[in-house]
Amino acid sequence: MNGSDSLDALRATLGAIELPGGGSLGASGRVAGLSHAGGRVSLSIQIAPEEAQSFAPVRDQAEAALRALPGVTSVFAVLTSERPAPPKLTPEKPAKTDPLAGIGHVIAVASGKGGVGKSTTTVNLALALRAQGLRVGILDADIYGPSLPTLLGLHGKPGLGQGRKLKPMQAYGLQAMSMGLLVEPETAMVWRGPMIMSAITQMMADVDWGALDVLLVDMPPGTGDAQLALAQGTQLAGAVIVSTPQDLSLIDARRGIAMFRKVDVPILGIIENMAHFICPDCGSSHAIFGQGGAEAEAERLRVPFLGAVPLTMDLRAGSDSGQPVTARDPDGPLGRIYQQIARTMLAGLTTMPQAQRPGQT
Ligand code: ADP
Repeated sequence: MNGSDSLDALRATLGAIELPGGGSLGASGRVAGLSHAGGRVSLSIQIAPEEAQSFAPVRDQAEAALRALPGVTSVFAVLTSERPAPPKLTPEKPAKTDPLAGIGHVIAVASGKGGVGKSTTTVNLALALRAQGLRVGILDADIYGPSLPTLLGLHGKPGLGQGRKLKPMQAYGLQAMSMGLLVEPETAMVWRGPMIMSAITQMMADVDWGALDVLLVDMPPGTGDAQLALAQGTQLAGAVIVSTPQDLSLIDARRGIAMFRKVDVPILGIIENMAHFICPDCGSSHAIFGQGGAEAEAERLRVPFLGAVPLTMDLRAGSDSGQPVTARDPDGPLGRIYQQIARTMLAGLTTMPQAQRPGQT
């Protein structure tokens, strides 16, 4: 099955699934983000928060029925509920020519070095913001190792929309665009700072993001020229630094903070990733890399500490299979951690002194 035939078949299948109150799932207008790529089908089913229990069997039925279709190897359906009115984040922006005019806040997610879980954090943070009712996009600017396609299970090339702008890809209610979908990694490897920056600003401008409350930019790791150019050339509302508790990466995190300060981008806070290990067998928690390092460091540097995320098998497996844990279970133990981090970050964004906000000084 391919293309629109495939989507028609998926829709027909959803049309045969009954809802608890009568009517069919397919005709209910509740299905969003239905996609089929490489045998993998994903969709979200919009529900009211109080319908979560009664709709769980509907989700299971939909998954089973879609999985039975020829050419479908896996199905991932999530129940999503729009929470009551989210905080108003999208300020009025007058400039019509500003390609990011419809975006409330562009926030960089950065790390001093690679492998600390920056991309995993970006995706789960985006999903946590989404679970709170915000419109969220992710731009994977990690040109050296773009991992968004894997993390979100994206396949194929983005299509062209109106005005020859690229249509962002959709996954789990997020808008997503990755350098990895557009540029061969070998090409990007030889680019220098200014080239990377222009590629990324062009990508931002060439994507029809629509109206978003938050666009998270998954930055290339490190604090070299490319990162500095990117931080300088993008209209950032703030930056979040991801760090593991080890000393070395804290030193790197300090460099990241210094870099953003140099170009007057406010630091929204530090997220400590892989803070402690949760044993999958007994559920006990082990502080393998020591405890409280990032929090103490945040205090020393006078930047907010946004929260600590444990090292768990669930997170790793979810990331590597394109089924992020916060999409699967936004109110589970890990989802709740990311949601708390998201809330703390948003609170920092909205209470940030006016003088610190880019474009308002
Ligand atoms: P980065 O973007 O910093 O290079 P990634 O997000 O790609 O890092 O993460 C690197 C690896 O670590 C991935 O395999 C990912 O699944 C895993 N990982 C990241 N954070 C966690 C975590 N909290 N628990 C378990 N595995 C994690």
